[in-house]
Amino acid sequence: MKKIILIFLLLAASLVTVISAQAAFGIKLYIDGNEIECEVSPMIINDRTMVPVRVLFENFDADVEWDAAASQVHITARETDIVFTIGSKIAFVNGNNVTLDAAPMILRDRTLVPIRFVSENLGCKVSWDDVTKSVFITSPEEEAVSDIKLIEAIEGKKNTIVRIKLTEGVAPVITTASAPFRIILDFEKTSLSIKDGKNHLSDKYITEIRWASHDGYSRVVIETSGEQPYEISGEGTSDVEITVGNGTADTDSSFDEVTEPEENEEQEEQKNQAAQEELVPLPEFENMLIVIDAGHGGKDVGALAKDENGETLVDSNGNPLLVEKDVNLAISLKIRDRLQEKGIRVLMTRDDDSFTGTNKENLMARCEIANENNATLFVSVHNNSAVSPKATGTEICYTEESTGANGITSKELAQNILPYLTEATGLTDRGIVNRPNLVVLKNTAMPAVLLECGFLTCETDRKVLMDDNKLNDIAEGVATGIIKSMKQIAKNM
Ligand SMILES: [Zn+2]
Repeated sequence: MKKIILIFLLLAASLVTVISAQAAFGIKLYIDGNEIECEVSPMIINDRTMVPVRVLFENFDADVEWDAAASQVHITARETDIVFTIGSKIAFVNGNNVTLDAAPMILRDRTLVPIRFVSENLGCKVSWDDVTKSVFITSPEEEAVSDIKLIEAIEGKKNTIVRIKLTEGVAPVITTASAPFRIILDFEKTSLSIKDGKNHLSDKYITEIRWASHDGYSRVVIETSGEQPYEISGEGTSDVEITVGNGTADTDSSFDEVTEPEENEEQEEQKNQAAQEELVPLPEFENMLIVIDAGHGGKDVGALAKDENGETLVDSNGNPLLVEKDVNLAISLKIRDRLQEKGIRVLMTRDDDSFTGTNKENLMARCEIANENNATLFVSVHNNSAVSPKATGTEICYTEESTGANGITSKELAQNILPYLTEATGLTDRGIVNRPNLVVLKNTAMPAVLLECGFLTCETDRKVLMDDNKLNDIAEGVATGIIKSMKQIAKNM
């Protein structure tokens, strides 16, 4: 099971027409030669072979999360994120929409997904044995595209350079770890023609270099002596250099005996100062920081525009008509711009279509950004959805548990923003709603609110959310409410 993370049942298309629903039970499943025990067998429903997704994914080390409000299943495994919406033929693979030939469904408490979708999106090889009624799945071979043929360390006075030579350029995934500080480079689809090993250095900057080849990738670990500055060059080429120590790539030890001040750090500091000076906040707001949280992102698409039958609406190209994560981001960026124009410091939890960790981790990370930076206010931007296409309007969620840290409560913040926001959307005023259990309201240390600007499932609301001028008005309205709150805070401080 080492190679397979995502496993799906794949049946030959011809089989679908041959086997009746009854006969389809009891199908055996083999993955890379091993028989897999399934709590519930795959089944054929309406000529489509359906797989109980949860059972399967949980057998294979994938992360499965169920979003009841959105009727969505989020599956995360290795580098693949899949979002299925029950009853919808549109699924998302790594944030990109894909049309299914059959919609996922719920049957007797099981979420079933059509396997054809999977077979078209993953490179597994599948064969069917009609005699034993068995499906054989062979995971794709991860072919190495490059090979590490040399790792060497060049010690200098001001730094030590680690040079990694590859047969083909592969951009490494670079991470760091602490205690002891390590720089870790993972080269995907790269083999290691030198044997796994390590090299202990009695060096000022690096204590040890280790390298090993794993299934499908090779890893080089550079353990440094304490936390060291480092620079990487040549990423994506066949010659990668990691300079550990004082930034400049000086390996010539024959001169330069004098220890010079750390140029790069100095330059860095000057740059930071310049960046801070560029933004001159109004004196009353200068100690305040507003966090704008664009809800969802990446594989977490949020709500979708749907018709009265619950079918996802698509544009002329077959793409979803409107996706919540995109509207949220558009509004959030506009709010940021409005605030920054007035010299107000703003921090975004995301400013692109990104997502990390599980859903829960992702939400907690948003709170941590605000908490760690001592934010004054936290405003999360969302849009709503409902089963009924008639549900319409603008509302703001707050938490009654907020007791007025920073001189304002979550409720007051919501009350300050709501009139401006509803005026901007022109939609029904649904008021403020106490939602103390929303993760971003519960786990933020400062007054926080969550805006639901409108419903993606309502035609009237969609017209607003798809109109860039209206989004400008919304951002202006929210910014006005935030500034009103900041003035209240300034007065109370
Ligand atoms: Zn949302």
